[in-house]
Amino acid sequence: MISIKNVSKSFRSKQGTLTAVENVNLDINEGEIFGVIGYSGAGKSTLIRMLNRLESPTEGSITIAGREISKISEIELRKARQEISMIFQHFNLLWSRTVRENIAFPLEIAGIPGGERKKRVDELIKLVGLEGRENAYPSQLSGGQKQRVGIARALANNPKVLLCDEATSALDPQTTDAILDLLVDINKRLGLTIVLITHEMHVIRKICHRVAVMESGRIVELGPVLDVFKNPQQPITKRFVQQVT
Ligand code: ATP
Ligand code: MG
Repeated sequence: MISIKNVSKSFRSKQGTLTAVENVNLDINEGEIFGVIGYSGAGKSTLIRMLNRLESPTEGSITIAGREISKISEIELRKARQEISMIFQHFNLLWSRTVRENIAFPLEIAGIPGGERKKRVDELIKLVGLEGRENAYPSQLSGGQKQRVGIARALANNPKVLLCDEATSALDPQTTDAILDLLVDINKRLGLTIVLITHEMHVIRKICHRVAVMESGRIVELGPVLDVFKNPQQPITKRFVQQVT
């Protein structure tokens, strides 16, 4: 589904060149919930942002559903971004629009006509459990409800891949669990591939099938979550595992 080959990303500035992601190789399977864990600055966001070309690799190639993402045109990229959508730590909602209008937004952009749009928004509201809150504004919602809007909006155009950048980091443990349950439900029901980045090992343990541990831009450990928990190899992985045991 997603194939990352020899990917590096450097940022240049007056201070010099900083390599945020270094020679990453990774294959993520269709329908998988794949976790990437690492401390702040490890390069997780940079890696995930390259999957929908919010950043472009300095070296290497990324292929998603058979298409090399760095080689496609702007028009194809717009289509590709409908298939690879993203949710964020701080939700990135439109604050002057209601729940319903936030969820309808990507459908408007895709040119879906009014009647069909309404039907789709109703479905999405039900899917994420926001019935009764359709006309609220984001400022009137709890953190968990805001992320439900984020998820509904991300799913509006039936993506194949959902990228989650610290999607539960702003939430309390109980709300985190509810949002993670929702992601599992969506993964099972829609067969959606999920790539999730976090610095919390309990998030990985709760929902991921496989995990990659990132340190200083590199993947230092990779495997099925159960194996990594049972037998962590690297010191950094051991530290993460200790977080939850
Ligand atoms: P966090 O857990 O804090 O979100 P992260 O693992 O997501 O961290 P990144 O945001 O990918 O880390 O950053 C990796 C490194 O790349 C950091 O040193 C960061 O300062 C640098 N970096 C990221 N984006 C840019 C940019 N646009 N310009 C310059 N440097 C950047
Ligand atoms: Mg980040």
